[in-house]
Amino acid sequence: MTCATWTDPAFLGIPVAEGRILRIERFAIHDGPGIRTTVFLKGCPLRCAWCHSPESQLLQPEFMPKPERCIRCLGCTTACPHHAVQPAADKGPIAPDACDTCGACAQACPTGARELVGRTMSVDALMAEIERDRIFYDESEGGVTFSGGEPLMQPAFLLDMVRSCRASAIHVAVDTCGHADTGALLEVARDADLFLFDLKMMDEERHLAYTGSSNVRILHNLERLAAVHSNILVRFPLIPGVNDDDKNVRETGAFLSALRLTRVDVLPYHRAGMAKYDRLQRPYPLADTQPPTADLQAHVVRLLEEYGLIVRPGGSS
Ligand code: SF4
Ligand code: SF4
Repeated sequence: MTCATWTDPAFLGIPVAEGRILRIERFAIHDGPGIRTTVFLKGCPLRCAWCHSPESQLLQPEFMPKPERCIRCLGCTTACPHHAVQPAADKGPIAPDACDTCGACAQACPTGARELVGRTMSVDALMAEIERDRIFYDESEGGVTFSGGEPLMQPAFLLDMVRSCRASAIHVAVDTCGHADTGALLEVARDADLFLFDLKMMDEERHLAYTGSSNVRILHNLERLAAVHSNILVRFPLIPGVNDDDKNVRETGAFLSALRLTRVDVLPYHRAGMAKYDRLQRPYPLADTQPPTADLQAHVVRLLEEYGLIVRPGGSS
């Protein structure tokens, strides 16, 4: 038996010409240079305890209801072609197996109480969305950023998109957690202008405990990427009690310095995603963690600067 690889159209069971999109954000200014359109792809191999976008983790579409908005109008129940909807926004489908995530119930909902996150789009349809903002890219030297989730979880689709953008002379940034197939990453690197590469912590055991995965592949991929690509901005999410100790910060600085990487953004942890966990009926893993103080952020910036890095505080983890 052979295994599907990232080049195999059957990879993940989605046609190569289509991708699972979480959302498209226009006029983004924190995901690369200029004014950008950020395309969030759905699906991520990591489960970071501090994730502020838990709705991006699963590849498949999912309901993220706002029960307080439900007015019990039964619009969703009537709209469902499979009679699978319970007439309340906080209830999942009556028969989950019957639900093909067509989204008709969410579209019929007049209050936004029943929201379905994740949709399938073709390369052509997504390119058309991206082209709508071309004037802003041209005027601001901006472009498109593919983020997630983890965009390299849909490698063939991402590669098609990156190549299409390049063919259309649109600047491309790829925002990655680095936990990806190395071959796919390097193939995307041929046509991507910029990588935003998240580096969370150096200790493998701790990485496993807080993200659900080892960091061995991530560190390896960053090494391989740094050898072939000259435009990598590392993003270090600063999470008190998780990765803010001097040992980890110094090991991070030494690792990046050895790879001759120069730019790091320190992204302070925030709790803005907490409410989404409630909506998805999942526990929030860092309920007791507070954002880092200004003093801690300044300290971490100073430590990283000792390794010759150009460090920018700010942004959001
Ligand atoms: S997504 Fe479609 S099939 Fe699923 S419950 Fe809603 S209307 Fe029914
Ligand atoms: S359509 Fe929306 S508001 Fe109406 S019952 Fe369904 S979830 Fe509630």
